[in-house]
Amino acid sequence: MNLILLYKSDFIKGQPTKVRLTGRRHGHVLEIHKAQVNDTLSVGLLNGRMGFGTVTHLDAHALEMDISLQEDPPPKLPVTLALALPRPIMLKRILSTIATLGVGRLILFNSWRVEKSFWNSSALKSEELEAQLVLGLEQARDTVLPEVSFRRYFTPFVTKEVPQLIQNTIALVAHPNVKDVCPRHVKKPVTLFIGPEGGFIDSEVEALKAQGIKPVTLGERILRVETAVDVLLSRLF
Ligand code: SAH
Repeated sequence: MNLILLYKSDFIKGQPTKVRLTGRRHGHVLEIHKAQVNDTLSVGLLNGRMGFGTVTHLDAHALEMDISLQEDPPPKLPVTLALALPRPIMLKRILSTIATLGVGRLILFNSWRVEKSFWNSSALKSEELEAQLVLGLEQARDTVLPEVSFRRYFTPFVTKEVPQLIQNTIALVAHPNVKDVCPRHVKKPVTLFIGPEGGFIDSEVEALKAQGIKPVTLGERILRVETAVDVLLSRLF
């Protein structure tokens, strides 16, 4: 936790610069930071500015800080990531990584090789999504939650929505066995499609190509989805 993310509800009533924390963040400051009264810690207001908090009180029950927020959060990467819904355990890791790396918008869509049961996972509940994203933001020192949305049906998503979505962007679909390689250090915003664990089926790649989305490869080694996300983003930006 390189930044403690604060919610409006953390502020003590009637004291606009003072927060009181219990639970996970309090435990972390106590055990990992081993902070003491008068120490300063990096803080940020969820979807707001960042700065520091001066510890005014810390005991086994709670942490209190006096907060000063003067900095803007870092810019996001110019990318929309469209990811075939991964299995819940992998989704959790990917959510926190994409928040750390600065993805501002994630679309989780259905594709042929996405197991139906993944759509019923509790990992898709908004509180669960937010918990993972927050871990990623705290790691990176950012405050702005990525926007996450779902598309349960591939064809209407690709035919009706994708044309608008990819306008004025470099639109790519990561797919192992194609001839074009993924570009490096691009200068324009990107819309990036990544497939499920079993990969896209041919007709899905054709449907994406029909919208002008270019299949690109990272080479002959097949990467796990979560590794592909990291490698693609670092290569593109
Ligand atoms: N057997 C599948 C592999 C799927 S890997 C297939 O042959 O398509 C899961 C997803 O990660 C892929 O759909 C793709 O989007 C991405 N990916 C993994 N390795 C990749 C590589 N070497 N090049 C491009 N994309 C890759």
